[in-house]
Amino acid sequence: MPENICVIGCGFSGAISARILAEAGYQVHIFEKRNHIGGNAYDKIDENGIVIHPYGPHIFHTNNKRVFKFLSKFTTWRFYEHEVLAYVDGKEVPIPINRVTLSEIYGKDFTEKGAKLYFSENAVKITNIRNSEDNVLASVGEDLCDKIFRGYTRKQWGMDLADLDASVAARIPTRTNDDCRYFVDDFQFIPANGYTALFEKILDHRNISINLNTDYFDHRDSNNYMHTIYSGPIDKYFDYQFGKLEYRSLNFKHTYIPNLNYYQKVGTINYPNEYDYTRITEFKHITGQKCTGTSIVKEFPKSHGDPYYPVPRPRNNKVYTEYYDLAKLEQDVTFIGRLAQYKYYNMDQVIASSISKTNILIEQLKKS
Ligand code: FAD
Ligand code: UDP
Repeated sequence: MPENICVIGCGFSGAISARILAEAGYQVHIFEKRNHIGGNAYDKIDENGIVIHPYGPHIFHTNNKRVFKFLSKFTTWRFYEHEVLAYVDGKEVPIPINRVTLSEIYGKDFTEKGAKLYFSENAVKITNIRNSEDNVLASVGEDLCDKIFRGYTRKQWGMDLADLDASVAARIPTRTNDDCRYFVDDFQFIPANGYTALFEKILDHRNISINLNTDYFDHRDSNNYMHTIYSGPIDKYFDYQFGKLEYRSLNFKHTYIPNLNYYQKVGTINYPNEYDYTRITEFKHITGQKCTGTSIVKEFPKSHGDPYYPVPRPRNNKVYTEYYDLAKLEQDVTFIGRLAQYKYYNMDQVIASSISKTNILIEQLKKS
């Protein structure tokens, strides 16, 4: 099958790559082990008529114009800026921490200047930031670290802040103003008809065929495609020869509440120190759906199960480098996405990487 390419996985990385290859004239065969397209960004209408994200809340945000333009060929958008509160000492306070958070937690008004002073007085002086604990202590100090970061991180990752790369906690900035948005990116939108409808459009091309309920590893021996795009876990691809990479998994507990318009004030409420779940998300805030009755999801982290998060820490970085070096030798395979690149990527980063890796591949295929 000289012009045929197979794509393993139908999340953003696989679907975008498939589309670019199809437009370049290749016949693309997608193999997806789940019974649906969209990967973890898949959404659907639940049995009560509410649009939900079965794999947890997905909010699209990016500063990358190229990514936004690419997706805009396949969807219109609903403007949505996500807000998150954290339940701390009986109060719901804005996350990322800003001057409103300080005012509510400490029961007195903080101006911007007051907030700056608070951080300069309380932040721990650490010159060499080695891990997420250093990152948080150097930004907000001990008290807010304990109130907001320590417990949440232990639950989410099953390990201490100090065990994780600085980049994990660095996802959450510290602000001195009163901006209560979770993200400040230039483009913050939800696909107007949802993510699954967006994927349907991306995949709607005569050169693309999709095989759902098909695990690549059940068919690997009969692979005679000219090239393979692989977006599953990289350690599995190489039969765990350098040992297993850690992935963090989640149980999603979805609940429908009838006769209620909204369950909570904002899209997500984090519970750093109470309960076994990390956060509750209410989908109607995100999707803008207007109806009576509402659906929420609670996220319960666990170490086994579907791999949702790579775990950024030195041990895994080292093992990943060994797989990465092996992957470079695999001329007929391109490794893309959050699991195959073992990167804590947001959707836009996965898309940007998939666009660029696929375009490089097309150039290489033209030359060979
Ligand atoms: P995936 O979406 O995981 O797709 C990979 C696909 O490959 C899967 O469908 C899988 O079934 C399939 N597959 C794997 N192995 C095989 C095999 N052997 N054979 C066949 N198929 C296989 N990002 C944001 O930008 N904003 C958010 O708000 C956000 N929220 C998130 C919330 C949660 C709880 C999680 C877990 C992630 C969130 N993300 C968010 C990240 C986002 O989900 C990812 O960046 C993105 O979905 C990754 O796309 P992907 O294609 O790399 O991987
Ligand atoms: N975090 C925290 N408390 C919070 C929010 C985030 O400790 O209230 C830490 C935690 O370690 C988390 C990381 O910051 O895993 C990144 O948070 P983000 O909301 O980006 O996680 P995601 O949405 O990817 O699960």
